[in-house]
Amino acid sequence: MRTLPNLSSRHIDHRNYPPGIVYMDGQYLPIREAKISVLDYGFLHSDATYDVVHVWKGAFFRLESHLDRFLRSMEGLHMSIPYNKRQITEILHNCVALSGLRNSYVEFICTRGTSADFSRDPRDAENRFIAFAIPFGSVATGDQLEHGLHIAITDILRIPPASIDPTIKNYHWLDMVKGLYAAYEMGADTALLLDTNGNVAEGPGFNIFAIKNGMVLTPDSGVLLGITRQTIFDICQQTDINCRAQNISINELNAADEVFITSTAGGVMPVTKVDGLPIGSGTIGPLTKHISAIYWQMHNDPRHRDVVIYPDSA
Ligand SMILES: *Cc1c(COP(=O)(O)O)cnc(C)c1O
Repeated sequence: MRTLPNLSSRHIDHRNYPPGIVYMDGQYLPIREAKISVLDYGFLHSDATYDVVHVWKGAFFRLESHLDRFLRSMEGLHMSIPYNKRQITEILHNCVALSGLRNSYVEFICTRGTSADFSRDPRDAENRFIAFAIPFGSVATGDQLEHGLHIAITDILRIPPASIDPTIKNYHWLDMVKGLYAAYEMGADTALLLDTNGNVAEGPGFNIFAIKNGMVLTPDSGVLLGITRQTIFDICQQTDINCRAQNISINELNAADEVFITSTAGGVMPVTKVDGLPIGSGTIGPLTKHISAIYWQMHNDPRHRDVVIYPDSA
């Protein structure tokens, strides 16, 4: 007779997790103990939306904008959770405060969740809210931030907006992952995907900007409307730098004087090489440095800060 393996009562993953705190299913947990059902459609179908905000020197940056985008995304996907904006805010604050992290990457997620009897009708599912705070991390490594990133323009198209609304932050990332493998093959650090017209769109978790003759340009459609992207518009407006959202062709990107990418995970990150060839002088451009400096200065502006109250600072 065949012997069955014993069922383990509890599975704890002892792999190397970063420190951090999760809120899910009504409780706060160390991140390594947080588990999700394999029957959650967020996992099975990538049926989920999320947002990422960062905490810098003990305060959230532009939290309100991230919350508004998250709530819009949930609405666009017919999702609802039993928490309003104020309650979500409190949960995010609690995750960061409990983690003790002064610089943190804070992600909050709504998954389609699970449905009774594994019903395939998305309306039957109970949506699940998860939030976590881990150490601040960047799309780019320290070395890449210092010398500039090398990006590859792949021939991979971002999932068309007619299929999935790119302004809803989502986990449909197989195009991005395919792009990353193509980029590594080309000796680059990361990938840029194209829109259905062959213009540049965005990359894995970041928006792209090109500067030509003092004009700052970024794609106007087919991309996630990044909060960092919006912050760049604000900086340009406040400091009289010309800035415009419009189509950018591959040739225009290659011929740019400066290129940078933006994300909550990393801020303003310089690009000095595209497809193996230097952009401008091949070093980090002056306007990129200037905008990046202002971006980090803005983190001290009380209008953009929500201060975290940590247990040990009472
Ligand atoms: C999150 C993300 C960005 C950057 O948005 P921010 O709000 O600036 O962090 C850009 N593109 C995609 C696809 C993203 O998921």
